[in-house]
Amino acid sequence: MQEAPDLIACEECDAVHRRLALGRNEVALCRCCGAELERDMSTHRRRVLPLTIAGLFMYIIANAFPIVEMELKGMVSQTTLMGAVLSLNSQGMPLVAFLVLTTTLLFPLMQLLSLIYLLTSINNVERSPAFNLSVRLIQTLRPWVMVEVFLLGVIVAFVKLTSMATVVPGIALWAFGALTLLLASVFSFDLRYIWWMSSLEKREGKHVGT
Ligand SMILES: [Zn+2]
Repeated sequence: MQEAPDLIACEECDAVHRRLALGRNEVALCRCCGAELERDMSTHRRRVLPLTIAGLFMYIIANAFPIVEMELKGMVSQTTLMGAVLSLNSQGMPLVAFLVLTTTLLFPLMQLLSLIYLLTSINNVERSPAFNLSVRLIQTLRPWVMVEVFLLGVIVAFVKLTSMATVVPGIALWAFGALTLLLASVFSFDLRYIWWMSSLEKREGKHVGT
């Protein structure tokens, strides 16, 4: 398929426009319907990689340490996210365990690693199949990453359990909170910007070589 990085199509009305170089924080609007075509991401781009790496660190902490510690009649128990998944599976809820495993453990990790790969390889002239796959993977997984739903569920359970036992939030719960905020910030970044930047690098690289 032929790429035309100089052109941009409106997602609302399909009108095709010539792309203009945007200044700092400028937004381009569709001439026909007024929908947003693109916005300047140059400032945001510089922040995305550090935020994504911070998200990866939060992800590691969230999975390495206990989410909550509960004390009832002298008995203390604590669990990590993986411990909760294994517990759900052993209690006859394999489907729920699978959903937690994928939407809270696997998919966020795949998204974070894919985005780090994209951001660090954006200047490569040759766009590898892995680059294309990573862009598609992030877009496909986006609706299935549910860290915030899990966090909300844990907080609700936490509040309910406080009337029955002594419940102490673990370091992983705070890390999950930070991860939720970081994911929201990181994935507000428009992936089309990475694609266009890569297309321009590719075209200019070929131009220099000929
Ligand atoms: Zn339009």
